[in-house]
This record gives sequence, structure tokens and C-alpha cells, in this order.
Amino acid sequence: MSAAEVTITGQPDTPEAQRYNRIRRWLGIADFASGFALLIVLLLTQWTGSLRDLAYRAGFQNYTVALVLYVVMFMMIAKLIGMGLDFYGFRLEHSFHLSNQKLRGWIWDQVKGFLVSVVLGTIVAIVLYSIIREFSEHWWLISWAVFLGLFILMAQIAPVVLFPIFYKFEPLQNDDLKKRLVNLSERAGTKVRGVYKWHLSEKSKKANAALTGLGNTRRIILADTLLDNYSPEEIEAVLAHELGHHVHKHILKSIGVQAGVTLLGFWTADFVLHYAVDRLHMFETLSDFANMPLLVLVATLVSLLLMPALNAYSRFNERQADRYAFRSIPSVTPFISSMNKLASQNLAERKPSRFVEWFFHSHPAISRRVEAAEAWTKPQAAAASHS
Ligand SMILES: [Zn+2]
Repeated sequence: MSAAEVTITGQPDTPEAQRYNRIRRWLGIADFASGFALLIVLLLTQWTGSLRDLAYRAGFQNYTVALVLYVVMFMMIAKLIGMGLDFYGFRLEHSFHLSNQKLRGWIWDQVKGFLVSVVLGTIVAIVLYSIIREFSEHWWLISWAVFLGLFILMAQIAPVVLFPIFYKFEPLQNDDLKKRLVNLSERAGTKVRGVYKWHLSEKSKKANAALTGLGNTRRIILADTLLDNYSPEEIEAVLAHELGHHVHKHILKSIGVQAGVTLLGFWTADFVLHYAVDRLHMFETLSDFANMPLLVLVATLVSLLLMPALNAYSRFNERQADRYAFRSIPSVTPFISSMNKLASQNLAERKPSRFVEWFFHSHPAISRRVEAAEAWTKPQAAAASHS
């Protein structure tokens, strides 16, 4: 490792990086708080009931048509309330020189994103309330099983159906990188179905890489912003990390964890819904879809409470994938330099406070990942000097 990298690692975060990340965190908190406030207002004022009545009148008194209209209106209100913050987020990326996207392109992405969420939200609502109507006693257990199936399906089709709505992908053409990946895979005794170039540069200046999909859609995606600016050894280090996720079956394990979280969520939703119907008489029946904000509220609170635990689990997986990379690449030096490059390029905080890392971060702090890589080389260097 060169002296330059030691200084970079040891440096505190730039005021710019600190400011950017602080604003982003507050933006996230404001977004959460405004969504939360909307749910509370809809429930306390009983406007959710007025919205349901409106949906029934517009939907010819048909349950399913009214349900769909309710979902669309509900999501439109939420989008209108969150739009200012979304736009602020767009401006933020530009003011820190992290985005290339034109306003027109951004608006188009917002429209597409909203349509996709309306389609998915409508499907979820129809499935959920059909089950509630049919099986009022064990609806939460049946819904959980059905949603687990939907979840696995989504993980599988996301790389081929969802991601291409927003980004272009193409199979990686670079022969040198392909050879490096084949070598890595052979050493791991496994195969990843493909490596794809992810055209991120038309929207962002940040770099990224990921393992996505399930079964025959499982693939590593590498942003062009990474492919164009990193050395072959650095990209190999990133590939080795993603391969580590694959070897340790992290996507499958995360779905397992998510299954547990969802079961807890549905059980809580059943409890809360019964309380609201039987005790508080807020709704006449469980299948009255005016109770939807209450269900969303339960889901939101359960995810919030479990967020630190889920992030800790994710950081555990990331450390495992890093260690896999250290083992499988000839030297950790390019791993360390790729981490430092990523931190600068993405304006990431190398050393967030313990609390920020614990609560918000799905990845270990860059400083800690670099320290782990340095620690990894020490025993090996000692062994080498003895021989
Ligand atoms: Zn990772």
C-alpha cells in the first residue's frame, strides 16, 4: 500500500461530505415524518372514510373498483405531499455535483416511478383485501404466505422487468474483466450467470455495483461510472466482493430474514386492526379498505423499529463479502484504493458517527472496511517475512 492511501484513510471527512450526508439524512427524516403525518391525519380526521365514500361513488358502488380508486387517490395525495422533498433531493445532487440528470429526465423518472408504484400498490391491495374478505380469521397468515411468494417473484424479475424501466443494461464486453471473473468464479467453484454494464452515467456521477436477481436472473451489475474510472485490479476487487455475496447466498438469506419481519408485521397488523374494529369501532369490518392507512402505519412502524437490526444484519453480510474478496484477490491494495475512490466519488462519509452508522447504514463505514483490509494483510506480511 502506498503512503498516499494511508493519508487518505486517516483523513477526517471533508466538510463538504459531512454537509451533504447530513442534509441527505434530514431529507430522509423529513420524508418519513411527512408520510407518517399524512397517515395520522387521515385516520384521526376520518378523511380516510370520506375518501372511501368518494371511491365508492366514483366506482359505481363496486368493492374492487372502489378499492383501486382509493389506492390511486391515496398514492396521489402521498406523492403530492412528498413532491417538494423529492425535488429538493434532485437539486441537492446537482448542488454537490453528483448528478448529470436534466430536469426533464428527472420528471420522466418520477412519472415512471409513480406509475410503477401505483401498479404494484394496486396489485398488493387487491390481493390483500381479497384474502381479508375470504379468510377473516387467518388472513394475516395466508397473506404472509402469498406475499412471500410475490416477494420471491419480484426479486427474480426485478433485474429484467423493473430495473430496465429506469436504466439501460448490456452484457459486459471487456474480455480482460470477463477472464478475471471466470478465474474468480472457478476458484469459488460457482458461476454467476452474467455481468452487465449498468448505464448509470446518464443520470449520476456516483459509482456503484451490485449482485441482483435470483436463479436464472442472478447477475452482477457494474456501473459504467465504475468501469470507466477504475483500474482492472480495482474492478476485480469489486467483482470479488459481489461474488462474496453470491457465494454466501446473501440474497436468499435476506429473503429469509424478510420473511420473519413480514410475519411479525402481519401478526401486528391483525392485532391492531382487530383493536381498531372491535374496541375503537373506527371501522365496521376488517375488509373496510378505509383502514389502509392503519395497515401502512403498522408496516412503517415495524420497519422503523427493526431498521437498526436489519442494517446490522446487512453490515454483517457486507463484512463477510469483503473478507471473501480479501481471500480471493492477489492483493488487497486495489480493494483499498477502490474503497477510497468510491468514497470520494460518491461523497460518502468515511467515518460517520457510531450512532449514524448503527441506525442508518446498511454498509460498514469505509474507514472500517479499509482498516479490515489493512488488518488482513498484516498476518500475511508477517508470514512472508518469516519464510
Ligand atoms: Zn456488498
